[in-house]
Amino acid sequence: MGEFELIRQFFTRPTRGAVLGVGDDCALLQSAPGMQMAISTDMLVSGRHFFADTNPQALGHKCLAVNLSDLAACGARPLAFTLALALPDADEAWLAPFSQGLLALADAHGCELIGGDTTRGPLNICITVFGEVPAQGSRTGAVTGALLRSGAHAGDDIYVSGTLGDAALALRALQGELLLPPEVLAVARNRLERPEPRVALGLALRGVASACADVSDGLLGDLGHILERCGLGAEVQTDRALALLAARAQCAGGEAQFDRQYGYSTVQQCVLAGGDDYELVFCAPPAQRAAVAQASARSATPVTRIGSLQAAPGLRLVDGLGRAVAPKLASFDHFSAPSEGRL
Ligand code: ADP
Ligand code: MG
Repeated sequence: MGEFELIRQFFTRPTRGAVLGVGDDCALLQSAPGMQMAISTDMLVSGRHFFADTNPQALGHKCLAVNLSDLAACGARPLAFTLALALPDADEAWLAPFSQGLLALADAHGCELIGGDTTRGPLNICITVFGEVPAQGSRTGAVTGALLRSGAHAGDDIYVSGTLGDAALALRALQGELLLPPEVLAVARNRLERPEPRVALGLALRGVASACADVSDGLLGDLGHILERCGLGAEVQTDRALALLAARAQCAGGEAQFDRQYGYSTVQQCVLAGGDDYELVFCAPPAQRAAVAQASARSATPVTRIGSLQAAPGLRLVDGLGRAVAPKLASFDHFSAPSEGRL
C-alpha cells in the first residue's frame, strides 16, 4: 500500500467543523468570534512511551488521549488534530485497529483529524491538537478564559480528579517488578492503556479553578509546575492522595493488606510520582468549594481536595494528623532518567 492509499483508507473522513481537512497542502480552521485557539503537541516514541507490542487500538486511543488531556487542563474544547506518523511498514493489520482506536476517541470528543504527515521510520506518533477557549476570562484584566498553571493564590484549595497511580502500578507489573492478581492488573492496565482525558471537567472548571495542570508525569511534579508558575508553596495531605489508588482502595483485604503485599513505598511512589494518570490537578479559592462540587457533578468526574496553597515556598507533605511525612520519591524526567528507565 502506498502512502496516499494508506492516508485515504485509514485517516481520511468527511470534514465536519473544519473548513478544509485532509487532502490539500494545509487544513483550514475557522475560529469562532470571541474565542482563542489552544494548541498542544505530544509525541509518543516506541520503546520509551509505550511497548512496541502494545495493542494498536489502545495505542491509537492513548496517543490522542494524552493530547486531549492537555486541552482539558486548559479548559479548552477540542476541535481538531493533526497526526504525524512514522511507520516501519504499512501493516494494515496494525493500521486498522490503530486508526479505529484513534478515531473512536476523536469522535467521542468531536475532535476531527484534519491532516498530518506519513513517513517510513521507527514507530513514532506525534499529534497536535487544536481547541478553543473564550478570549475573555472572568477575572478583570484576564487576557484569556483558558485555565493556566499560573493565577492561583495562597489559601486556595488543591484538588485532583479521579484516581491516581494505577497506570504506574500496571507499568511496574508489566515490567515484572511486582505480581498483581489478574483482576487487579486488568483494572490498572486499563488506566495505563486507555486513559480518559478529563475534557468535561476542564470545561466545567472555566471561571472556577484558579490554576490547573494535567497529571502526566506524576502528581507532585505536575503540582510543582503550578507552584513554580504561581510563586507559591503547598501543603498536601498524602493520605487523601494515597486513597486515590483504585487498586488499593478496592483491595479485598483492605488498604493495610495491599500495603503489606506490595509495600507502602510502592503506593507512595505510584500515587505521588507515578506518571500517565492524565487526571487534572487544580486549585480554587475556598469560596468556590460549592462551584467545584458542581463542576464535578456536571462533568460526572470525582474530585478530591488534597491540600492547600501557601505563601511559603516548597512542598510540605503531611499525614492525616498534620505530621510531616517524607517519602523517598524518584520523579520521572525524560532527560535525567537513565535510558533503560520507564517506557
Ligand atoms: P505535503 O507533501 O503537501 O505536505 P502530504 O503528501 O504529506 O502533503 O499529505 C497529503 C495530505 O494528507 C495532506 O493534506 C496531509 O495533511 C494529509 N496527511 C498526511 N499524513 C496524514 C496522516 N497520518 N493523517 C492524516 N492526514 C494525513
Ligand atoms: Mg508532507
